[in-house]
Amino acid sequence: MPVGGMEAAAFVDRARVAQVGWGARTVEERVLALAGLPDRLCEQLDRIVRVIAEENGKPAAEALAHEVVPAIALARHHLDCAATVLGPSRISSATAPYRRGMRTHRPYGVVVAIAPWNLPFLIPFSQVLPALIAGNAVVLKPSELTPGVAEVLVEVITAAGLPEGVLQLAVGDGAVGAALVEAGPDKVLFTGSVATGRKVMAAAARFPIPVGLELGGVDVAVVLEDADLEYVTSAVAWGANFNGGQACCSIERVLVHESLRAAFLVRLRDKVRRIDIERDLAPAIDERQQQVWRRHLDAARDAGLVVSGGEPVRGRHLMPAVVSGDGVTASEVWREETFGPVVAVAGFASDDEAVALHNATDYGLTASVFSADVTRARALAGRLRAGSVSVNDVAATMYSTPELPWGGVGRSGFGRSHGVDALLDASWVQVLDLPRGPAFGPKRPWWFPYDTGLEDAMRALATSLAAPHTTAKLRGYGQAGRSLLGMLSRRPKL
Ligand code: NDP
Repeated sequence: MPVGGMEAAAFVDRARVAQVGWGARTVEERVLALAGLPDRLCEQLDRIVRVIAEENGKPAAEALAHEVVPAIALARHHLDCAATVLGPSRISSATAPYRRGMRTHRPYGVVVAIAPWNLPFLIPFSQVLPALIAGNAVVLKPSELTPGVAEVLVEVITAAGLPEGVLQLAVGDGAVGAALVEAGPDKVLFTGSVATGRKVMAAAARFPIPVGLELGGVDVAVVLEDADLEYVTSAVAWGANFNGGQACCSIERVLVHESLRAAFLVRLRDKVRRIDIERDLAPAIDERQQQVWRRHLDAARDAGLVVSGGEPVRGRHLMPAVVSGDGVTASEVWREETFGPVVAVAGFASDDEAVALHNATDYGLTASVFSADVTRARALAGRLRAGSVSVNDVAATMYSTPELPWGGVGRSGFGRSHGVDALLDASWVQVLDLPRGPAFGPKRPWWFPYDTGLEDAMRALATSLAAPHTTAKLRGYGQAGRSLLGMLSRRPKL
C-alpha cells in the first residue's frame, strides 16, 4: 500500500528505534546474525528468478546471471570481509608518539535506499546489505514497477536473521521516495536517473544529510585498430542489448578506429539482427521508456543515421538498432541516455581523439577498451573519465566481480556500491584519541600558560616535519615529538 508523508515519518521512526539494538552489536555479531543469507538466497534462487522475470520482463537467464548469482557473491564478499574492513584499527602518529589513535566505523543510523526497476534485485540488495552489516536500519523504497521483487528481497534478508524493524519496505511511487527523504533519515542511497538524483540531493541538502548517487550513463566501447572484430562485435551486440539495453552500464556508444569502421558495422549489424527477440531480449519496461526510444530513433532516422533495426516488434519490443554516419556524435542517441536496444557508432583516427571524444560528456559510469595489446589498452583506459573501465569485456564489473567498487563520476554520480567501499560508504569514521602510557602526565607545554621553551621547540619540530617522508624521517618525527614533550615536561611547572 502506498505511503504518504505521515507514514514515511513512521517508517523512519520505527527504523530509528530498531537501529539502537542492531547498531549496538559488534560487526562480528551482525555478520553472525546474517551468516545464513548466502544459503537462503541459494534455497530461494528459483523463486527470486521467477519474480524478477515476471515483474521486470527480462529473460530468466539474465535474472540469474546478472542479479541473483551476483547478489550471492556480494553477500559472501561483504560477510567475509566486514569485520576486517569495519573493525577498529590503530593509527600511530609520528608527531604525537605519546598518543594512541584508533579509527572506528560507526553506522549512520537510518538509511533510506531508493532503487530503480532495471536490476530490481541486485541494486537494492547492494544498497541494503552493506548498510545493514555496518549497523544501520534501512527503509527500502523500490520502483513502483517492481514491488514484488523487493518484497521477496526483504523477506529473504529478514528471515536470515534480522530483528524486527531493522529492514522495512515502503512501496509506492516517487512521492513515497520524496517523503522518505523529507522524513529526515541519516543517509540516502539513491540509484536512478540524473533528474531524480538532483531532486534527492536537493532535498537532502536541507538537513543536510549525506547521499550516495548512482545515476545514468552513456557508456562507450573504444575499439582500437588491432581488435579482434569477431570478439568485439559479439561483446558489443550483447553489451548494448542485454536487459533490452536498459542497464546503466549498457554500451550506448562505440568509438571504432576508422580503419575498422566499415567492417565493424557490417558484422555488428549481422549479429544484432540474429538476436532472438522472443527468447533473449527484454521489452521496454513501460510506455514511457518506449517513448524515449522512439523519440531518439525518430531523430536519428530524420538525420539519415539509422543503419539497421529500430522497427517496432509486437508488444513493447524493438528490433535492436545500430546508428552511425556523419553527425552521429551530435545526435540525441549519442549525447543522451537512450536506455534501450540502440547503439551509436562513430569513428576516430588516433588514441588522443578517442580519449577526447569519450571524455566530451558529463557522464562517466563505465567504459570498455578493446585491443590485442593489453598494455596499450590499459594505458588508454586510465585516460578515460569513467568509474570503471574494462579491457576486452563489457559491463563485467556490474555482475561478475563483487570485490570491485561500483560507481561513477560527474553526472553519473558518486559514492560506491560493491567491494569494501560499499561497507565504508555505509559508515562514518570516528577517531578515538587515547593516551599512550600513564593516563595523566604533566600539563601539555602548549596549554596555558605557554612554556617559555615552546617556541624554540616548535621551530625545531617544524624543520623536522618539513623534510621528505622517508621511513627514517618518520622515525625522526617521533623522536622530535617525544623530545619536545620530554624537554618541556621536564621543566618545572609554572
Ligand atoms: P528514476 O530516477 O525514475 O527512479 C528511481 C527511483 O526513484 C524509483 O524508485 C522512483 O520511484 C524514485 N523516485 C522518483 N521520484 C523521486 C523523488 N522525487 N524523490 C525520491 N525518489 C524518487 O529512475 P528509473 O527507475 O527510471 O531507472 C533508470 C535510471 O536509473 C537510468 O537513468 C539508469 O541509468 C539509472 N541507473 C543507474 C545505475 C547505476 O548504478 N549508476 C544502475 C541502474 C540504473 P518510482 O519509479 O516508483 O516512481
